[in-house]
Amino acid sequence: MGNEHPASSVADLLKTHALDLSQYEEVYKHIHANPELSLHEAGTASTIANHASLGAYTVHTALGGHGVAGVLTNGSGPTVLLRADMDALPVEERTNLEYASKTTFKDPQDGTTTAVMHACGHDMHVACLLAASEWLAREEVKRTWLGTLIVVFQPNEERGLQAGQTENVIADKAVLKIDIRSQHAGTRGKVLKAMRRIVTKECEASGCEKFPTFEQIRKFPLTVNDESVTNELNQTFTVVFGQAFDPNTVTSNASEDFSDLATSVDRPYCMWFFGGIDEGKWEKAVKAGRIAEDIPVNHSALFAPVIQPTMEIGVKALCAAALTHLGGVVS
Ligand SMILES: [Zn+2]
Repeated sequence: MGNEHPASSVADLLKTHALDLSQYEEVYKHIHANPELSLHEAGTASTIANHASLGAYTVHTALGGHGVAGVLTNGSGPTVLLRADMDALPVEERTNLEYASKTTFKDPQDGTTTAVMHACGHDMHVACLLAASEWLAREEVKRTWLGTLIVVFQPNEERGLQAGQTENVIADKAVLKIDIRSQHAGTRGKVLKAMRRIVTKECEASGCEKFPTFEQIRKFPLTVNDESVTNELNQTFTVVFGQAFDPNTVTSNASEDFSDLATSVDRPYCMWFFGGIDEGKWEKAVKAGRIAEDIPVNHSALFAPVIQPTMEIGVKALCAAALTHLGGVVS
């Protein structure tokens, strides 16, 4: 069975069966106001697993902690997996939004309290994937595809950024947490060696009685999009989004475990970005040459995507991507 979902028919389907996103805006605000740190996403998981948008799916919970997955089998055909991450960060929100987080987390181990915030858009990813799940399961949409759709809400993406990380300097010992990002394995090796050299020599210079110890807490593989999957997506996104779509994504230094999901089962993958900054605000910052000063980036206490059109674009991209790779029904 060939792919019977050319880009134009995907775009048509999205137009003729528009989704009402108002209830997903509420889901977004709720998750934003109730953020949970990595490994503690129980409330978010329950919001997801009990949401009506997964009504047609077989839902699995408690995956790798608080992960949730929905599976929708619709005849025989390819399997497509869509993924959203769901954890928040130890950041104190300063956006002044009406749905801003006032949540804190008390570490049961050391008793410290940390403010928690969705400062990386995972709340938006969850809302978008729930909306896309509903749309792809609608009878009139479902009859256009064949295969198995898996939607994964992944916990624990922001590993290593747990509470207490800023209070790690204690009188008789020092714990340094260093996050190294590189685009080539060779560079990574060099930077790791240099880091060990500098720390060891600094310890010697200041007369430390104990040698420093080094421990690798986490490691992400490079994310390199599959060429053929990406080319097909480029065609669909170009038709669906027109000028708003940029196929030439710049290489990013973000750290991500997304590719593990696919490479662990030897399947191809594609990761894309979508923006969340108000257009007027962006234009103004560009004009004033103040992008770095005026546009809060991920992990900032001021990170605040505009709900629309961010959500609409996020949902459409997921729906279009799934239809591009699921089998089509010849009508
Ligand atoms: Zn992040």
